[in-house]
Amino acid sequence: MSHLKDELKKLSRDLRAWLKDQDENLIYTSAVPSDNAPANIDSVEDLMAETEKNEAMAAAEHLFFQAAAEKKFEPQKKISLESLREQVIACRDCPLGISRLNPVFGIGSSKAKLMFVGEGPGFQEDHQGEPFVGRSGQLLDKIMEKVLSLRRSDVYIANIVKCHPMKNPETPEAHSNDRPPAPDEIEKCRHYLEEQIRIIQPVCIVPLGSVAAKFLLKTNKGISFLRGHVYDYESDIPGLRHTIKVIPTYHPAALLRNQNLKRDTWHDILLVKDLLDSASQ
Ligand code: SF4
Repeated sequence: MSHLKDELKKLSRDLRAWLKDQDENLIYTSAVPSDNAPANIDSVEDLMAETEKNEAMAAAEHLFFQAAAEKKFEPQKKISLESLREQVIACRDCPLGISRLNPVFGIGSSKAKLMFVGEGPGFQEDHQGEPFVGRSGQLLDKIMEKVLSLRRSDVYIANIVKCHPMKNPETPEAHSNDRPPAPDEIEKCRHYLEEQIRIIQPVCIVPLGSVAAKFLLKTNKGISFLRGHVYDYESDIPGLRHTIKVIPTYHPAALLRNQNLKRDTWHDILLVKDLLDSASQ
């Protein structure tokens, strides 16, 4: 930088000396404005300042890319589902991360118009690393296929917490060891689901069961009160391009226990179908 400054000073001195030898009138009367050239001799200082500024910017730009290349920092980039999955795999932010067998990130299409959200992985999910497997998952698949003509790969399925909440964390191989996630576990993990929602931007989210419905609708009311209606998703997730609709319904595990809930669930999924049909017109 100082070398350049010296060069410019010398150039400026030489130019002044040369101009002194010229007809002064030429200097001041021939100063035809040009887009590319300075208008008169006074602009030599401006030119020098401008050149220094440009050089400083070029040097800063060079340092920026050099630091990026040396991984001192990464230029900000949009996070993908895949890099978010890596974060979940590495996460131990709450005790569930210690006792889990596998993290259960989520599965499906990143372009899904429909997203199902449950409360957390159970025994089967913990073993297979995939949400809604086992009998509940098979029932969910059947509902999707029969009513919505959709397959698992057409939608996105995730849970609020990504690791298995257990009554006794020391026995992950035991059956009947599932429990709902605690509020502090939900609080620690919620940003992963919110980032999934931000990336996917579905038309509709279907919370499955009370815990997921309460979380997404920010209410204490139970699923039998909340189901049967279409809600706007009130969230402060930045970057959402449209209002996402929320249509809560029963958890498939509840349907397996109580056949009487099937009719209401059918009704809820028809609401989803109407919404998706009108969104695709
Ligand atoms: S439940 Fe969520 S916050 Fe807790 S360890 Fe697993 S990924 Fe991390």
